[in-house]
Order: sequence, then C-alpha cells, then structure tokens
Amino acid sequence: MNKPLKCPICGKRACDVSGIPKEKLFIELKCPNCNKIVKIPCDESAVKQSPHPHLAGCRG
Ligand SMILES: [Zn+2]
Repeated sequence: MNKPLKCPICGKRACDVSGIPKEKLFIELKCPNCNKIVKIPCDESAVKQSPHPHLAGCRG
C-alpha cells in the first residue's frame, strides 16, 4: 500500500512510496505543489496522515 510523503515546505503530498525502508533514506524531488526542490526523509514522520475526524469531534 502506497504511503503519501508530504512536502516539508507546503505540507501537501509530494510523492508516494510503496513502503518505508529500514534504513534512513531521503527522496529529493521537485514538489508538484510548490515547485521547490525538496528533500524528504523516507520515514513515518514524513508520511502525510489522513485526518481522523473522531479525534477532533469528541467535545459534544
Ligand atoms: Zn511543496
């Protein structure tokens, strides 16, 4: 299952990876959203999380 990596500059999805490697890996690419060259660490911290409505909506 592909994981979207988020751009550290604009925070939008810059690319997908098929999995998180065990070794630290960086992906360098031109972000399609902000058109800047960005270097993204290929690990869980850079994976764009999908929103979880149930975490935000518990206050009645
Ligand atoms: Zn960007």
